Amino acid sequence: MKNSFLILVTRLNFIFPYYLGVKFIKYKQYFNKNYKKYDNSFDVINATNYSIRNIPYYKKLGLEPIKSLLEFSAKIPIIDKDIIMNDWKSFVLPNYSNKNVVEGTTGGTSGKPLRLIIPKARHVVELNTMNSMWNQIGWRGEVRAVIRNKQLKPNQIFTVNPLKKEIIFDGFNTDISYYEKIYNTIKKYNIKFIHAYPSSAYQFSLFLKSTNKDTSIIKGFLCGSEGLTELQSALIKKELKIPIYNWYGHSEKLILGGPCKNNDVIHVEPTYGYFELLNENNQQIKTPGEIGEIVGTGIHNTFMPFLRYRTGDFAEYVGNYCKHCDRHLPLIKNIQGRWNKNKIYLIDNTYVTITALNLHSDLYLKINGIQYIQKEKGELEILIVKGDGFTNETENLFISHFDKSLLTKCNYIIKYTDIVTKEANGKFLPLKQHIKE
Ligand SMILES: [Zn+2]
Repeated sequence: MKNSFLILVTRLNFIFPYYLGVKFIKYKQYFNKNYKKYDNSFDVINATNYSIRNIPYYKKLGLEPIKSLLEFSAKIPIIDKDIIMNDWKSFVLPNYSNKNVVEGTTGGTSGKPLRLIIPKARHVVELNTMNSMWNQIGWRGEVRAVIRNKQLKPNQIFTVNPLKKEIIFDGFNTDISYYEKIYNTIKKYNIKFIHAYPSSAYQFSLFLKSTNKDTSIIKGFLCGSEGLTELQSALIKKELKIPIYNWYGHSEKLILGGPCKNNDVIHVEPTYGYFELLNENNQQIKTPGEIGEIVGTGIHNTFMPFLRYRTGDFAEYVGNYCKHCDRHLPLIKNIQGRWNKNKIYLIDNTYVTITALNLHSDLYLKINGIQYIQKEKGELEILIVKGDGFTNETENLFISHFDKSLLTKCNYIIKYTDIVTKEANGKFLPLKQHIKE
C-alpha cells in the first residue's frame, strides 16, 4: 500500500527531469543551441585563467593568462590522482563556503580514494547531459527501475525515490525468487527502463532468458560505471534484443559520453568537459585507431577545478564527426579501465589485455559468466559459469581459444563455478589482478 502510494507520487513528479528551476531551463537552451556543434575552447580558456588566478597550485606556477588551446596544451601541466593527493589543499579554492558544495570521492577498488569538492549546482549540467543521452534510446523522463549498489533489508523488495523517479531494487540479491519479484514489480507498474551496472543487467537478463520471460516490456537498460563486455552484449542485445545504453563517465566528473541511436561508439559531450586523448609522449591523438589515455579538463567546477587530469582510462580514437547524428564531437571506443587492471602478465614479462582474450560470440552464448583471476605472473585462473548447451566440445573450443590467445606463455586452469562474485561496492571486475605493477 505504502509502496503503491509512493510510486504514484513518483509518477506525478514532473519536476525531474524537465523543470529543475530557472537555471535548468537556461542551461537547457544553451545545450540545445549547441547540440550539433559546440566549440568549448572558450570554456577551457576561462576555466584555466580562473585557476591561474585563484587556485594555489596554479598560482605558484606563475603563469600568464592563456589565450588559446595551443597555449593551454603547451603550458598547463598534466596532473593525476597522486599529484593531487600529495598536495590536496593547493588544488582547492581557499576559503570556499561549505554552503555551495558537496563532497564526493573517487570510487576505490584499489588505493586510497581522492576527496572531491563539487559545486551543488552541478546537477543542472549533470542531469541535462545525461537526459539528452538517455533520450537516444527513447527515455523521456519515465520512472526507472534501479539495480545497482543498494542493499535492502531482508524481505524488502524495493524502495522508492520519488525525487529521482527511481524504484530501487537490491543489487546484491541474485536469487531467482528475488528476480521473479523484480520482474513482477516492473510489469505491474509498467516500468520500461532499468538503470543498472552492465553486470547486474546481465545477471537479470540470464534470468529473463532461463525463465522465458516476455522481454518486450523492457525498452532498455541504462548502464554506466563499468565497461560492457562482449559476453553481456551478446546476450542482452543480440539474443534478447533489449537495447542497452552504455555510457562513459567517472567520479571526477570531467568527461561524459555515450552512444547515439545508430552508432555505438562513445560521443564525448563537449558542453560537459574538455577531452584530450594523449599518447605516451603526451601528444594529442588525432589518428583513428590509435589508443591513448583519456585526459579531462572540467569546465563547471570553480571550487576544485581539474585541468588536464589523467583519468587512468584508455580508449581508441574514432574521429570527430558522427554522420548518424550529424554532431561534431570527439568519438572514442574500446574504453579500458585503469590500464594495469586489464593486463594479464605472461611468463616472459610481456602481457596480453583481456580484450585480446575476447571470445567468438557463439561461445558467449554457451556460458553464463566468465572471470579471470591472476595471482602470479604466467599463471591464470579462468572461472566459467556453464550455460545451456555447454558440452565437451564447447570446452575444447575454449581450450583452443586460450591456447592461442595466451601464446603458450601463461599456464591457465579453467574452473567451473555457479556464480562469479561482485566486489563490495556492487561492481563486477572481469579480471581480478593481484599482481602490483
Ligand atoms: Zn552519433
